[in-house]
Amino acid sequence: MRIILLGPPGSGKGTQAQLLVQRYGIVQLSTGEMLRAAVAAATPIGLKAKEIMANGGLVPDDVVVGIISDRIDQPDAKAGFILDGFPRTVPQAEALDELLKHKHLKLDAVIELRVNESALLQRVETRVAQMRERGEEVRVDDTPEVLTKRLASYRSLTEPLIHYYSERRKLSTIDGMMTIDEVTRAIHRLLLALGAVEPKTHAKSTAKSAARKGAKKAAKVARKSAKSAKKAAKSAGKASKKAAKGAKKPAKKAVKKAAKKAVKKTAKKVPKRGPKKVTKKRAKR
Ligand code: AMP
Repeated sequence: MRIILLGPPGSGKGTQAQLLVQRYGIVQLSTGEMLRAAVAAATPIGLKAKEIMANGGLVPDDVVVGIISDRIDQPDAKAGFILDGFPRTVPQAEALDELLKHKHLKLDAVIELRVNESALLQRVETRVAQMRERGEEVRVDDTPEVLTKRLASYRSLTEPLIHYYSERRKLSTIDGMMTIDEVTRAIHRLLLALGAVEPKTHAKSTAKSAARKGAKKAAKVARKSAKSAKKAAKSAGKASKKAAKGAKKPAKKAVKKAAKKAVKKTAKKVPKRGPKKVTKKRAKR
């Protein structure tokens, strides 16, 4: 499965991408994360991107397209990926189309998380507070001033992608103002409807319940036959074994016949005792 998550900063792309990774075993390709790692490692790309990122601008298209192209070729991306934060401009989207075509890969969906701009600042503030609580390093671009710039760049450069993908019948929009769980469920429903994922969880539980039912039935049959075998053995005694061995008729019938014979024989041997009593005693053995 290959999908793009589209939405302004703070719309929940990163959160949803991580949940999709856990659920479907695909990888999250976040250009923002990759660039931050490059900055931290002071690679040539990192050195180029550092200032731009700190100011809320966009890193040149060729740089991010190159990063993504290499990343898609990694073995862990073979099962599928979620693009988070890429593409961010129409030229990036065109470059992505080209490189996917070249690699013989297809996009399953572009999911736009639509949110009220007024909620975004609050969301980013919450994210910052949570990161501080966890003792994590806070992003340098998660300040109200830089966020305003990032939002402006989203509006002018990234929002046109909504039109770009809707024209190509790839776009699906989900209300990003719902709770995290609700958004996750909506994404799952959408992917099911698009045929991008198998209804695995349902299939699994059906198979499980069928197996459980089968096992129950088998146990019942086994219990029943054990019970009747015990009964037959009890009433037939040793004679039943003999009879069962040589019997051409079904075992059950043979056992019954042998039991009757054994009972008669014993009754004849002990004439003093009442035949009924002897029968009982013999039969009990
Ligand atoms: P993000 O983590 O997606 O919010 O990205 C953080 C920053 O990395 C952005 O503000 C940009 O400076 C840079 N960046 C991430 N992805 C891209 C991209 N696709 N194109 C250009 N710049 C990007």
